[in-house]
Amino acid sequence: MSQATTSGFTVDLSGQVALVTGASRGIGRSIALALGQSGAKVACVARNRDKLAETVAAITAAGGTAEAFECDVTSSDSVTKVVESVVEKWGQLDILVNNAGITRDTLIPRMTDEQWDEVLNTNLRGSFLFTRAATGPMLQKRYGRIINIASVSGANMGNPGQANYSASKAGLIGMTRTVARELAKRKITVNAVAPGFIETEMTGAMGDSILGEIKSKIPANRLGTADEVAGAVLFLASKAAGYITGDCITVDGGMTA
Ligand code: NDP
Repeated sequence: MSQATTSGFTVDLSGQVALVTGASRGIGRSIALALGQSGAKVACVARNRDKLAETVAAITAAGGTAEAFECDVTSSDSVTKVVESVVEKWGQLDILVNNAGITRDTLIPRMTDEQWDEVLNTNLRGSFLFTRAATGPMLQKRYGRIINIASVSGANMGNPGQANYSASKAGLIGMTRTVARELAKRKITVNAVAPGFIETEMTGAMGDSILGEIKSKIPANRLGTADEVAGAVLFLASKAAGYITGDCITVDGGMTA
């Protein structure tokens, strides 16, 4: 199956297996749907069982194949088990999207150890754990696509109140570049996507006046959609992107141009 996704972009991923972390809502849900619509079997990973079931149902309703895997990305054992289960079920793992992420915003003098650790553990350690686990089956097949969802906060600019978040995303981009070099000879590409402000629950929590101010600084004069991030991920997951590795695509309506 290779159909146009919500954004109208068509890629044929039939016969491939993808795993998306943070697939229970927001950007991860859109990415999982786009990969499913493109013909990949999709392992949907997050903690919220009910929300995961909704993503799986949406992929299945569109004619795709998906399964939910309840997992906290900060747990090494749990991550290893999920990757083993996916390979046991579908025989391979071709595409990994490290998307699960959280914010715990506050200015640096008030940032607690817990706020720092929680964000670094989810956004950076979680991506490390899944990348390490996924490279086993990818090295065996000598093929893979690893796509890390970073952020303009860390990749392109600082953002007051986000020392923990920016550090996690800048770290993720550093990891992307290094792992790209380690795996390039085995036809495994590793790239990042850095979204600007995208309409999801994460940005919804910011409130209308802050969002209005943010919008006025975006040349496109609007927030992006989760589907627009999914479009960049689909491209990086496709055969067309085979010679792109260690890079980061910014999806921000020109905000950091
Ligand atoms: P949401 O808050 O809407 O969704 C976050 C997702 O991550 C949920 O599916 C959540 O699932 C999952 N998640 C969080 N913690 C864990 C955990 N410990 N284990 C497993 N899953 C977890 O966020 P967005 O969709 O907005 O963001 C997705 C990614 O995009 C994040 O990495 C974010 O940093 C990045 N991003 C977002 C931007 C935006 O403007 N929205 C801008 C730039 C980057 P559950 O709670 O069920 O576990």
